[in-house]
Amino acid sequence: MTTVESTLRADIVEVGRRMYDRRFTASNDGNISIRLGPDRLLMTPKGVCKGFMTPDMMCITDLEGKKLQGDRDPSTEMLMHLEVYRQRPDVQAVVHAHPPIATGFAVAGIPLDRPVLAEVLTTLGSIPIAEYATPSTKELPEAVRKYIKAHDGMLLANHGALTVGSDVFAAYYKMETIEHFATISLAARLLGRENLIARDEVLRLQQLRGTYGIKAPAPICPDPESPEGRAAGPGGVVDESGAATCQVVQAPDGGGLRLVPDSLDAASRAAIREGRGDVEIRLTYRQLSALIEDAVRHLK
Ligand SMILES: [Zn+2]
Repeated sequence: MTTVESTLRADIVEVGRRMYDRRFTASNDGNISIRLGPDRLLMTPKGVCKGFMTPDMMCITDLEGKKLQGDRDPSTEMLMHLEVYRQRPDVQAVVHAHPPIATGFAVAGIPLDRPVLAEVLTTLGSIPIAEYATPSTKELPEAVRKYIKAHDGMLLANHGALTVGSDVFAAYYKMETIEHFATISLAARLLGRENLIARDEVLRLQQLRGTYGIKAPAPICPDPESPEGRAAGPGGVVDESGAATCQVVQAPDGGGLRLVPDSLDAASRAAIREGRGDVEIRLTYRQLSALIEDAVRHLK
């Protein structure tokens, strides 16, 4: 075994332990793989807890999933990993886990595509949800294929999350970012309000990706209100196979504002910008209650 291979085996053990410690996986959930060479992958075996692995447990497969080496069989989710390596020659490692808050969004069918954190926009962009597919079947790689060319991380409907990277730690950090982002989004939504980053600012952040040395797999999709965006539809621009080629971000037109309350619709923002009075603002019951409570508190 080469030194490189033994280092990579140890890296998988380390990432597995961190995932388990952070409760991104329970029991035998999750799987990790690394590109070992042009046609070889190093992969976690099936049926082991990711928190208690040893380097000798890993198996080596080819890009078709045929086992070349190892006492154990490769992960049951191997097909999803193989699809990623086929679609993304730049990807060196794939991580799959079931982080609870992000998986909650995946269960609720709510993608993490609102522009609320500048750092997430520069690193991951948006995090879509791949359609539900039976785990370990061919359906799952097909669901992943739709988004993997344009995204380094995605939720898997009613299942978990998938991230990729230039090495296994980069892929793991993206899993951390998704769970952290999901936790913050959940907190903001429980508080009843999200201030969204306006589209102009989102585009400015996109330009900063290069400055930070971040290689995002795809640009932000055109504004859905623009002619280009309207032609593409709500799913953004797709290639001939139906795979996304850009990242859908639900960024509102700020009309000069950099942050826009999510309760303002486009017409209201335009009215404010143009100095027209009597703007109609639609509030949810929770937002209205929060406003009233706030007012009452100030009266006291
Ligand atoms: Zn899974």
